[in-house]
Amino acid sequence: MTRLKVEMKTIGVLTSGGDAPGMNACLRALVRKGIFEGLSVMGIERGFRGLIEGKAYPMPIGSVANIIQRGGTVLRTARCKEFVNKNGRAKAARFLRNFSIDGLVVIGGDGSFRGAHELYQEHKVPVIGIPGTIDNDIYGTDYTIGYDTAVNVALESIDRIRDTASSHDRLFFVEVMGRDAGFIALEVGVGGGAETILLPETKTDLKEMCDRIKRGIARGKTSSIIVVAEGDDAGNAFEIARKVKGVIGMDFRVCVLGHVQRGGSPTSRDRLLGSTLGAAAVDALLAGETDKMVGIANDKVVLVPLRDTWRKKKKINMDLSRLAEILSK
Ligand code: ADP
Repeated sequence: MTRLKVEMKTIGVLTSGGDAPGMNACLRALVRKGIFEGLSVMGIERGFRGLIEGKAYPMPIGSVANIIQRGGTVLRTARCKEFVNKNGRAKAARFLRNFSIDGLVVIGGDGSFRGAHELYQEHKVPVIGIPGTIDNDIYGTDYTIGYDTAVNVALESIDRIRDTASSHDRLFFVEVMGRDAGFIALEVGVGGGAETILLPETKTDLKEMCDRIKRGIARGKTSSIIVVAEGDDAGNAFEIARKVKGVIGMDFRVCVLGHVQRGGSPTSRDRLLGSTLGAAAVDALLAGETDKMVGIANDKVVLVPLRDTWRKKKKINMDLSRLAEILSK
């Protein structure tokens, strides 16, 4: 077990990779809990890039006022190629020493966690990761910050699309985010009453999908919603629509929800998750933990080795997938 004996006086925090609603709630909790525990907190701008360029500023209590309800991240985020190299990380470690930052919290996805892990391995900087990504595809935590908001935004969009689908007797292919994982697609598909849900984790059989649609038409169905995760093995929504054109027997349209799923005010769940994990990260650093992610499992805070978060694969809920099949028969 990795435990360090480093006295924490100042901690740094950054957001990295894709932004996610709830990151600000997380930041707010981290700053306030840190100050409550007698620490100083430094905010680092634009992820690892800010760490390399030395862009950091102190975050007093007032700096996080009025941000809990805001989407995105007030610290800004970025992707930083230089940090993938040892030299870039050495610069970052130098900067952390110069600013007397004793421990670092990285809010982001598994890419950001890899960076944090390397920083710890090479420079022994205590690091704690917080899962912030709308995709929910991080092993070791039931939920990631931003996922619930993304699902609810997508669901509301599907409800709207359904109005048009039913008024015009149309089928809609609705593409939701998820390059490697179908968490959003599955939850939105069940909640939105989709006829078919196409996930990257399961083999897509387009013939079976067309037969299902035709069976629906035969029993009087006049409109349908097919939810497609952008990384489905049969292609994205446009590609799938092209492949089945002329076979499905119904007028159709494609709608790619895209970045609307990433923005907007975080749901209550994402604010709670962000607040819980922000405070938990401070506790973890104070307890001498490092190279770990704070996550949530069965409503309890858990610590997971950073390495596991990308080496192990989080599985989608196959029971839910089977239920979706039954409900849309
Ligand atoms: P996310 O954290 O949302 O998965 P990315 O995969 O884009 O987003 O990663 C964010 C940043 O983390 C990258 O721009 C890079 O600076 C750093 N990073 C990603 N992978 C590695 C790696 N293997 N080693 C070191 N740093 C990495």
